[in-house]
Formats: sequence, structure tokens, C-alpha cells
Amino acid sequence: MELDLELKELALPGIEKKRPMVIAGPCSAETEEQVMDTAKQLANNGIKIFRAGVWKPRTKPGGFEGKGAEALPWMQRVKAETGMLTATEVATPEHVEAALAAGIDILWIGARTSANPFSVQAIADALKGVDVPVFIKNPVNPDIELWTGALLRLNSAGIQRLGAIHRGFSSVDSKLYRNAPMWHLPIELKRRFPSLPIITDPSHMGGRRDLIAPLSQQAMDLGFEGLMIESHCNPDCAWSDAKQQVLPEVLDFILDRLVIRDSVEATESISQLRKQIDELDNNLMELLSKRMRVSREIAAYKKLHNMTVVQTARYSEILDKRGAQGVLCGMNADFIKTVYEAIHSESVRQQIEIINK
Ligand code: PEP
Ligand code: MN
Repeated sequence: MELDLELKELALPGIEKKRPMVIAGPCSAETEEQVMDTAKQLANNGIKIFRAGVWKPRTKPGGFEGKGAEALPWMQRVKAETGMLTATEVATPEHVEAALAAGIDILWIGARTSANPFSVQAIADALKGVDVPVFIKNPVNPDIELWTGALLRLNSAGIQRLGAIHRGFSSVDSKLYRNAPMWHLPIELKRRFPSLPIITDPSHMGGRRDLIAPLSQQAMDLGFEGLMIESHCNPDCAWSDAKQQVLPEVLDFILDRLVIRDSVEATESISQLRKQIDELDNNLMELLSKRMRVSREIAAYKKLHNMTVVQTARYSEILDKRGAQGVLCGMNADFIKTVYEAIHSESVRQQIEIINK
């Protein structure tokens, strides 16, 4: 049985239930002036939730590891002077305790931490009996079970105001993005937990200022609830993630130009189109099963003639031919390759079954 989440509405005080819910602020809280300057500009532009990293996970030692507890009073000042809610990353029970004592309104668990079940459990234990909204960033590696597991751990500790943050995944192939979006993973998370709010972090995904607008638009087009965007009063001089932070006024410009489509349910014409998709999917299933049947017949022939199951020349021929055809039909070459690899691997599995009968 699949485990389910017991969720309550986030119900953040003073925040309208409207897409996108925006969390903005610098990667790190660096100085009191930088925090206050950035926060005031953001608040003037209508931002209601302020983020800043107080404790920073750094890949290598020696980098700026965050100001730590010293920065918590700055967050309190932001709240008192701008009325914004405050959010920060916690990675240990000590961070949780200090953040809660300072009245931080929203906690998030970072991508490195959510990849580690021991750390997630320690945070969950520290949060037992506390009613605070917690967002869980996707783990650095593209493992939806780990992401789900972290959500379940927090939920079992009694955290019901939960959300997820999609910040992209480490990938050896990704050249354009700092962290590959792999949109199918947050989409699958939404399928599993339809009432779980998911917000997109285009800053860590793109790793570059110019990718923030298109990634934010894509997140909105896919129906996700919100955006977490890094904004700094002097981005070029930021002590961490300088390349991906934008001025508050640039953030305002980006948000202003987003097209927000309504995510309310199907109209008549979309349900007609969905019927067509269902019918096409039926045809696809039938075709695939016919293809597998022929493949099993080939296996019987191979068995009779003592041939091996995988004939690599034939496999390459299929990949090349269908790859080129797919591109002519307006599809992505990588997509066709993935589809044919999956079909081929199922076909091999079925042939092996026949050969061993
Ligand atoms: C951050 O939000 O500044 C951060 C460290 O993000 P992530 O955990 O997604 O790398
Ligand atoms: Mn950052």
C-alpha cells in the first residue's frame, strides 16, 4: 500500500491563496544592512515572504558557511519592520531549535539534507509537537522515493503544513542548467499527493539570472503553486550564488510579466481532447502489445537457430532509423531514444523468457 500524507492547508497569515505564492530573498544573510536593504525593497514591491540562508551548506570547506545564529535577529527585524513572513533553511535539530526560538515562520530542508534520511529524521524528531510550515526541497539526486520519504518522515512527526520545493537535480548531462529540472518528478509527486503545494526554485535550477523568467513561466504553465527566487540588493557582490541572484526590481519585472493560467478543471473542449488522448493511448497499448507478440515469435526463431537474443547491429539500426524519423515528426531525439530503449528492454525481457522456456 502506498503511504499517504495527512495535510492541512498552509494557512500562512496575511498570504492570499493565489498563484504564484512567492518566497524571495538573498541566498545568504550576509550583513544586517544587506538583509534589511533587500527586505525593504522586496516588501515595497509586494513580496510577502522573505527568505535568507542563515546556515549555508557548502560543497567545500572554507567557503562562506552562513552567519549562523548571529543573523537570526536580522530576520526578526525584517518581520517587525516590513511585516513579511520569514523563511530559512534548517539542517540539524540545533538549527530547528534556534530558528523556532527566533520566531522564523517557515522552515525549509535543503537539497543536500533531504537526500539523507538520518538528517531528515533528526529534524522531524526535533519538530515533534510543533505546528510550523515546512518545505522540503527535492534531494540533489533524482530520486522521488527519497523526496517522498522525507515528506512522510516530517508528516509522521505531526507536521501537516507541508510543501515541496522543486530546485532541480544534479545531472552529468545537464549543460544548460545548474540542476536539471526533470519536470516529470515534481509532476509525479503532485500525482501522488494532489493537495501538497509545490513551489519551483528557478534560481538553483538555472544557476543563471537569464533562466529565472523562462523557468518560472514553465512552472506556472505546469500548474505549480509558487516560486522561490533568490534576490539580493547587490547580486554581483553576493557571498554565495552571485550568478543566480537578481535585484528586487528585476524580480518585480519578472513576476509582472508572468502569464498565470487558471488551473481550474476541464472545460467541454478540453474533455473532448482528453477523450482523443485516451483513444490514442489505447491504440498505442494495442500496437505495443502486437509488437511484443512479434518479438516473442522472433525469440522462438532465435531459439530454434541457436541465435543470441540481442543482435546489436539490428538494435542500432532501429535506434538510428526511428530517431531520425522522430525528429522529422517534430519530436526530441532524446525522447525517441528513451522510448526505444524502454521498448527494446521490455522486448529483450520477453525474448529471454521464451528462450528459457
Ligand atoms: C538555498 O536555497 O540557498 C540552497 C542552499 O538551496 P539547495 O538546498 O536547493 O541547494
Ligand atoms: Mn543559494
